Amino acid sequence: MPSPPAALPVINPARCTGCGWCVAACPPHVLSLQVQQWRKTSVLDDPAGCTGCARCAVRCPFGAIRMRREAL
Ligand code: SF4
Ligand code: SF4
Repeated sequence: MPSPPAALPVINPARCTGCGWCVAACPPHVLSLQVQQWRKTSVLDDPAGCTGCARCAVRCPFGAIRMRREAL
C-alpha cells in the first residue's frame, strides 16, 4: 500500500472557474472537471491516488485550491 498523502487539495467551488489547468497539471490524473450546480468545478476523484505534490494549487490562476494537511 502506498502511504497516504501528507496534504490534500481542497477546491473552493466559489472561486473555481472550471478552466481545467489543475486537471492538466496533476501528474497522477486524480482531478477532473464535473458539473455541479450548472457550473464546471474541479473535483478530486481519487484522494488515495493524490501524492500531495500541490502542483494543482500552484497552477490554479484563481487561488481556488489550498492544500490541507492530513493527520497521518
Ligand atoms: S496535490 Fe498533486 S497529485 Fe494531488 S491532486 Fe494536486 S496535482 Fe494531483
Ligand atoms: S485551475 Fe483553479 S479555477 Fe481552474 S479548474 Fe482548477 S481549481 Fe478551478
